[in-house]
Amino acid sequence: MPIMIRRYPKADPMLALLALVALMGVACDQPAERPPRLLVIGIDGASPRVMDRLVAEGQVPNLSALAKRGAYGPLRSERPIFSPRIWNTMATGKHPREHGILSFVSGVGEERYLFTGVHREVPAIWNILSNAGRSVGVVNWWTTYPPENINGVMVSDHFFPEHIDGVRRMFSVSGESSGALVSPAEFEPLARLAVERSAEIETLQHDFGPETALPPWVTRADLIRHFRSDHEIARVALEVQSRTAPDVMLVFMPGIDRVSHWLWGCLEPPDLYPPGLRPTPEDREGCTRSLETYYRVTDGLIGQLVADYSEQDHVLVVSDHGFEAGENMMLLTGRHRTEKALDGVIFAAGRWIRPASDIGTTSIYDIMPMLLSLSALPIASDLEGKLPDFVSAPDLPQVSSYDDTPVERVQHEESGMEDTIIEQLRVLGYFEEEAEAAIDERGGRDPSAD
Ligand SMILES: [Zn+2]
Repeated sequence: MPIMIRRYPKADPMLALLALVALMGVACDQPAERPPRLLVIGIDGASPRVMDRLVAEGQVPNLSALAKRGAYGPLRSERPIFSPRIWNTMATGKHPREHGILSFVSGVGEERYLFTGVHREVPAIWNILSNAGRSVGVVNWWTTYPPENINGVMVSDHFFPEHIDGVRRMFSVSGESSGALVSPAEFEPLARLAVERSAEIETLQHDFGPETALPPWVTRADLIRHFRSDHEIARVALEVQSRTAPDVMLVFMPGIDRVSHWLWGCLEPPDLYPPGLRPTPEDREGCTRSLETYYRVTDGLIGQLVADYSEQDHVLVVSDHGFEAGENMMLLTGRHRTEKALDGVIFAAGRWIRPASDIGTTSIYDIMPMLLSLSALPIASDLEGKLPDFVSAPDLPQVSSYDDTPVERVQHEESGMEDTIIEQLRVLGYFEEEAEAAIDERGGRDPSAD
């Protein structure tokens, strides 16, 4: 049952003050003893199979720098590999059966519905941080619509649907008809301006060169569209950072996953495929170059996001899974379904991260203990994960649970985006298999046992 305790009433003078301070861009006086700031960047679907080499070769300079002064390694996910359940596990430390976000959608036929924040049944890290007096910024994290009233700014994931044709049309949709997408509401115009400004930048450094041959089903415009969307998300995150300087900032960029669904299919050796479906050497070359380019432009956005942080601050970059080749309607595609796609990546650097070249495998369940420790908050003993060895945060006595942390969601109204998001998922080929799995799970079968 969703938690709906009202912690910060609408007229809360602290919230009003925070909004005012945020809008004026004035920094609050900081108490003397504070943990370093923490920046968490989620890059959906980034695979160690691509990342390892790019890091080693210095082709992703910002991520390579984090790996060099901190820790880098695989992040082990779990099946079924559906992004919403994994990103919610990372933000809560709980199994999907406990946090309640099982998939993208649930129900069948006419009864299908999109999982949204109202289905999350346990507090997330931003609720716990807010309750502890830490300031937080959250931008585009999975399943954060409707936005929650936190001690800072939350720009929900429904603020950024890729299919929205142009920021201006979006701008003309009134808050009343689409429901709240940002909390506090005062920040929404600033977020929209940040998106507008990013759309006006003509010299996006995407560099998906026309000299790169791509298979016929991959278009350069698709790659650029996803990059533009990630770019907008980064611009809004920078707006939150510069105006509120939050103690903890979380931002999620989906682009690597989206383009990998198109490009990964022809990365694998041709003899893995049936004869009519084998990638040519040109296909393999074009897909590999384009995918690596996308990783590099993502690294460029990460460079902008980390620019405001010192080496004492903590930066954590994580992905929720990797990729494997698949086929769909006689096209080679990328997918994440089996053990082969189970590993994502983790980068961590900052004052309480021990530099380490081999960190073994970290679990998605270990992220929540890390987020708490790096924020100088106690780990709860009801979390499944443990603190990785490369984290050296000061030891604190554990608490039993954070489950009674108050959560307040902005009054839920339909945003009008639900149908188009479901349509996007259908295009990506998610829909049938994940709907099946969601039904399976509700039937009590453990899908991770597949
Ligand atoms: Zn995906």
